[in-house]
Amino acid sequence: MSAPLQVTVLGATGSIGLSTLDVIARHPDRYQAFALTAHNRIAELRALCVTHRPRYAVVADSPRAAELQRQLDNEGIATRVLVGEGGLCEVAAHPDVDAVMAAIVGAAGLRPTLSAVQAGKRVLLANKEALVMSGALFMQALRDSRAVLLPIDSEHNAIFQCLPGDYRRGLAEVGVRRILLTASGGPFRELPLEQLSSVTVAQACAHPNWSMGRKISVDSASMMNKGLELIEACWLFDARPDQVEVVVHPQSVIHSMVDYVDGSVLAQLGNPDMRTPIAHALAWPERIDSGVSALDLLRIGRLDFQAPDETRFPCLRIAREAAVAGGTAPAMLNAANEVAVDAFLGGRIRFTEIASIIEHVLDTEPAAPAFSLDDILAADMRARELASRWLNGRRR
Ligand code: NAD
Ligand code: MG
Repeated sequence: MSAPLQVTVLGATGSIGLSTLDVIARHPDRYQAFALTAHNRIAELRALCVTHRPRYAVVADSPRAAELQRQLDNEGIATRVLVGEGGLCEVAAHPDVDAVMAAIVGAAGLRPTLSAVQAGKRVLLANKEALVMSGALFMQALRDSRAVLLPIDSEHNAIFQCLPGDYRRGLAEVGVRRILLTASGGPFRELPLEQLSSVTVAQACAHPNWSMGRKISVDSASMMNKGLELIEACWLFDARPDQVEVVVHPQSVIHSMVDYVDGSVLAQLGNPDMRTPIAHALAWPERIDSGVSALDLLRIGRLDFQAPDETRFPCLRIAREAAVAGGTAPAMLNAANEVAVDAFLGGRIRFTEIASIIEHVLDTEPAAPAFSLDDILAADMRARELASRWLNGRRR
């Protein structure tokens, strides 16, 4: 029997991170946590280190690192604590690491995820923002390395499972007509439109089918999540934006579909539990138990489909426009959205103003070509400035 795969979990204290550790713990013979990282939830990270005994842990700053190191030393745990982005990149690219779960939320995950790609790891991509921001560069880094990229986003994992193994030859070459990206429609799918501007943070974070971090929960409520996923699908599967169709499917049982030229439509189904795509990506091309119960179609009874409503969900339209514009537009879209969601979560803006901020930023700053990581990071910073200026102007 071969040695267990060494897995770095970036964002170990988050929703995806914890689900990943749940799957890893079910297969100690196959997987071992090599490094666990967290931004600031030190107590949670300490508990995870006690359970999983990783070689490294990474936290945001030196005072937190010193505190965690002291606690672990006292408990006789040999984990070494590293700090900041440098530490994240180090554990993502470490020569002893086989697989990296990229589950940091937002642009903060870009450099560590790219480090894992450049170091040729098996990269399990949950951090869609990293790919949305840097698409062309990210995919080039993948081609230049021996890395294997496996999508964790349930829709993209489903599409990956429904595509033939040689899909990188091109969608047309393998007979794909279009990709059908399913969306639950989130908590506000049927809310009377006039109430949308007064929804609370708690309402926005209460997703009907999935339990997730706060940022992606708000993105799901605004359907910006589906917009980011549309861009993600274009990069992952080399699709044009018009080859990806969003279909609202409130039950979240079909996780996405691939429509072939002969009229066949292949779908991947399952209970809405992220441990399924995580287990799939960890074990691919094999299959392992994920802890997810068998799908009970008789209990579910029916599957419904609707067209997305872009009046209700302008973020979906704005994201599609950014996908078509290309260059730095997706990075600006993502950055403006991060600022806007943060402001909404902090009670500073209304839910409907999320789209207003993003549209303002994209209308103010035209998309430019993105030749380098510096171009992308500059566009990200410029979008954050413009979004912050919008917020400050509003306060006056
Ligand atoms: P979460 O908020 O639950 O967890 C985020 C993790 O990232 C935490 O461990 C946190 O410590 C870490 N983090 C946050 N800011 C950081 C920073 N500046 N530097 C370093 N680390 C930082 O989020 P989540 O729901 O687990 O989502 C993680 C990623 O996976 C997101 O990109 C999300 O879009 C994607 N995703 C999540 C789900 C889901 O079901 N939760 C599904 C599909 C995709
Ligand atoms: Mg998804």
